Amino acid sequence: MSVSMNPRMRIGEGRISGALAIVFGSISFGGVLCFLFPEFLTTPEFRAQYDVEALRRVLAACMFVAFGFALRSLMANQSKQAGLIGGGLTLLALALGGAGVETGEVAGPPVYLSLDYLLLSLIAMALVFVPLELFFPKHTEQTKFHPEWKTDLAYFVIAHLFVQGVAVLSQEPVWALFGGAGFEELRGMVSSLPYVAQVFLAVLIADLFQYGTHRLFHSVPYLWRFHAVHHSTRSMDWLAGSRLHVIDVIATRMMVYLPLYVLGFDQGVLVSYVAIVATHAVMNHTNTRLPYGPLEHLIVSPRIHHWHHSTEERAHNKNYAVHFPWIDKLFGTYYAPRGEWPEAVGLDDAAFPVGYVRQLLYPFRHDPLTEAPKGEVSTR
Ligand SMILES: [Zn+2]
Ligand SMILES: [Zn+2]
Repeated sequence: MSVSMNPRMRIGEGRISGALAIVFGSISFGGVLCFLFPEFLTTPEFRAQYDVEALRRVLAACMFVAFGFALRSLMANQSKQAGLIGGGLTLLALALGGAGVETGEVAGPPVYLSLDYLLLSLIAMALVFVPLELFFPKHTEQTKFHPEWKTDLAYFVIAHLFVQGVAVLSQEPVWALFGGAGFEELRGMVSSLPYVAQVFLAVLIADLFQYGTHRLFHSVPYLWRFHAVHHSTRSMDWLAGSRLHVIDVIATRMMVYLPLYVLGFDQGVLVSYVAIVATHAVMNHTNTRLPYGPLEHLIVSPRIHHWHHSTEERAHNKNYAVHFPWIDKLFGTYYAPRGEWPEAVGLDDAAFPVGYVRQLLYPFRHDPLTEAPKGEVSTR
């Protein structure tokens, strides 16, 4: 079988089609499970909004694509494993009812997994960011299936599936303490603003609190242990931003929601903020070099955030903001020499483990500041 000249695509080997068959096969199988067991696998807040017929069409399209990639992989790849797994998952989805599957009962138990949120986010994010990275790549030699993609996908999957668990741990205590009465005048002023101004204010306040928390995670040695996980990626792409230790996620979310709850932003504004931060944070990690031009003075670009992940000491402890680079300029922590990109990203800790579970445990067992080999100690 012929191998393309483009090493990023490696068309013809059938390995990429095998991986895609598994991804789309899993989405199809998971989608059918969501229809069958909505009370356990879907998010109550989202269920009310769904256009079920449109979702059935998405499911049918995913199954069709999965079968196509499975066939392609079986024909082109010497190892039949991936094609068989992808095809098998899709057949299973079909056997359970496929796109015409009956919808199960919703009794409303208190505990659920947000499989619907995971599958729809994966499809939506991949549709936007994969073409961006293919057509406007920064590192042209980096493939989607670099050595770290499975670790990052695990972070993406777990963060979405356990949205309820993270919200219970991070948002609910903050809501209980600061979501009630108090600051009535301030709340009145916020709610009297036009909707767009409220969203902008929410994003700005969140970014300021996120800036402070992020800076603490860099400067307090014990906290850095946990945040080092985020910096351990050596391959920046749209999935890499998901790599966050759960302690990092919960602490940051608590700090960000605190002012938003105190100021009484309504649910619609909070939903808009979550959509903006989710998209912008992913964008910041993408392997893309879009021409931002003067816009780079106003909003954080991938180039600015890639510097935050740089291995070079001159860039350490810089560019903490997610949205607005002028917050870093204001506090003297901005670093992104015009037009330049960092040579490499990641930690100097060669012993830093790969894989979700090992990275989950690593901060509790090891201190990257003292246990890294001499000369390879992170100074952030
Ligand atoms: Zn950081
Ligand atoms: Zn980052």
